[in-house]
Amino acid sequence: MQSGPQPADFADVRATNLAVVLRQLRMSAPCSRADIAATTGLNKATVSSLVTDLIERRLVREVGMTENRIGRPATMLVLDGSPYAAVGLEVNADYLTAVALDLAGERLLSWRRSFAGASSSPGQAIASLAALAKRAVAKMVRDQRRVLGLTVGVPGLVDADGVVELATNLGWHEVDLRKSLLSALNEPSYPLLVENDANLAVLAEQRFGGRAAGNLVYLTGSAGIGAGIVCDGRLLRGGRGFAGEFGHLPIDESSGRSRAVGGAVGGESGPVCGCGRRGCLESLAGLGALISRALPDAAAEAASSPSEFGPHVDEIQRLAKAGDPQVLAAPAVTGRYLGHGIAMLANLINPEFVALGGYFTPLAPWLIPEAERELLARSVAGHGGGTTIVASALDSSAAAAGGAAQVLDAIDSGVLPTP
Ligand SMILES: [Zn+2]
Repeated sequence: MQSGPQPADFADVRATNLAVVLRQLRMSAPCSRADIAATTGLNKATVSSLVTDLIERRLVREVGMTENRIGRPATMLVLDGSPYAAVGLEVNADYLTAVALDLAGERLLSWRRSFAGASSSPGQAIASLAALAKRAVAKMVRDQRRVLGLTVGVPGLVDADGVVELATNLGWHEVDLRKSLLSALNEPSYPLLVENDANLAVLAEQRFGGRAAGNLVYLTGSAGIGAGIVCDGRLLRGGRGFAGEFGHLPIDESSGRSRAVGGAVGGESGPVCGCGRRGCLESLAGLGALISRALPDAAAEAASSPSEFGPHVDEIQRLAKAGDPQVLAAPAVTGRYLGHGIAMLANLINPEFVALGGYFTPLAPWLIPEAERELLARSVAGHGGGTTIVASALDSSAAAAGGAAQVLDAIDSGVLPTP
């Protein structure tokens, strides 16, 4: 045992206790100081001191007196956060999004704009992201809020320093996004982080999706298909943060089926993926493949002038509702490939549910039946090991919302803004 707490340890203990109080208030506010002490096991004097600190920083406020359980009036507390904002951005193959949240998780803004990510250079993307970040931050400042942090989601491999090692659907290799954005934003005073988009989206699904689970997967349904994985309550990052490259699972089934595909060498067959390999899941089940199957004419047009997937997805949804047989067949094929990949996830990590996100969400009614059939057929555990496939509860701003939520998580872990 140590002889006594060192100053650094004392600061750690206080941060941990502040985090305990903040999380308690996030879960069950309004509550009194005595309620917090009773629920957390901290003594009343400690809770009072911590609450004073949180009130001074305007993270918590008092909301008047209420009779407590034993009939004595007590001052109730709630999260405040009115002077603060957390900002999340996302860059993707065809759009940019921005979301700002207050400390209680309420949305302050939610913006989306078309962006030709696939045909823009990294420099153009960084300039567009920086412009969007500046607008969002300026709006928060006009609303008298201080920005506590900004997190940017990117569909690719992002290391711990915010360098995007590879983002195939943006055409990026070794892009030091964090450093470039810090420079473009004139070295802002708030923390700026870069994170994989699926990792952020699964945090948003867990926090705002309304389904309580400690084991879940979020699939980004766009040009690529990333998996954000929460396993035993924690985000699964892997050694260098590159876990969850669901879209690059090799699942081409042509060698085992009658469908003829030429040029199969060394077991590699199927369409070429953005990563340069063949037969990756996203080359078979990504949005590009889905649109090609459902709307061949639109796909040919889009190939010459890349545009947003949104109008095509709306059209597929409309025709599927009308019962168009060619259009109905397309999400069924996509669903089968997704189910194949989801069965691998079920066998490896046994999630409680897999949420189909992004453009897959509006198409989920036509994707899920085939995906479930494939999951049940390929899962070694009976009934797919209990894994269900659902439409995400969130819209295409999920990754940006998760980025903002990650800033809130830092506050909830006791890293408080200076008063
Ligand atoms: Zn690939």
